[in-house]
Amino acid sequence: MQVTIDSGSGFCFGVTTAIKKAEEELQKGVLYCLGDIVHNGQEVQRLADMGLETIDYDDLRTLHNARVLLRAHGEPPSTYHIAQQNDIQIIDASCPVVLRLQKKIRDTYRHIRETGSQAQIVIFGQRGHAEVIGLEGQTNNTAIVIERPEEAQKIDFQRDIYLFSQTTKSVDEFRNLVSYIQNRCSESIQFQWYDTICRNVANRVERLKDFARQQDRVIFVGGKKSSNAKVLFQHCQEANPRTVFVSSEKELTNDILADCQKVDKVGICGATSTPLWLMEKCKEKLLNL
Ligand code: SF4
Repeated sequence: MQVTIDSGSGFCFGVTTAIKKAEEELQKGVLYCLGDIVHNGQEVQRLADMGLETIDYDDLRTLHNARVLLRAHGEPPSTYHIAQQNDIQIIDASCPVVLRLQKKIRDTYRHIRETGSQAQIVIFGQRGHAEVIGLEGQTNNTAIVIERPEEAQKIDFQRDIYLFSQTTKSVDEFRNLVSYIQNRCSESIQFQWYDTICRNVANRVERLKDFARQQDRVIFVGGKKSSNAKVLFQHCQEANPRTVFVSSEKELTNDILADCQKVDKVGICGATSTPLWLMEKCKEKLLNL
């Protein structure tokens, strides 16, 4: 049996940088992280074992004189405001791609306010997702969030529209949404859209499908909370129905292992939140059969 780990799977550079920063800062003393540093339970546990303490917004409000790491997803202005009030030192590991998107939305919001325009800011993204909360915050929470193109009825097609996307949304769905709006908005209004999808994620889909097609069996390793893992797993399964989802090597059951033993090529891949070491552990377990 040949076991191959997909070389394109694993942390994107935004997550890699945030984790490196956490490891460096942990050397200097107590460090808190606002929310799970990555949507992968095993990696969160590894850093917790090193001393990283995960907190939520309620904890942040009661914390004083501490150091808090902001993860790659980025934060709304209110988080920086609370930190300033509570003498909290921010270790900002927000991904530069997300920060650029936040700035673009903030500038648009300012422009709308300064010109007294009735324009709407629309964000194509997952409601309640940390990145989207950070993006909504740039508009003082006035943006319209749309999760699926079918929700576009929420938009007033008689007023100007500025459309942005969460960095991890599907490019195809975004294009569908753009066409949907184009077909409905009045000719007299201005519709501007910005494809702000991160190519670190979008470019993985086709590569991952190619990888999956070349394997007899595929083990997809991902966190149960990760939306990126869910999406990439679906793509993988479309390309190769013999794909199974596991969160760690512990979920490689005897049935899965026995099934893999019958074939020549087993591929291991994962999401942008899946650490390489976790995929390596799965490989090790397969090779130890
Ligand atoms: S997916 Fe892209 S935007 Fe999101 S953290 Fe990774 S590199 Fe940054």
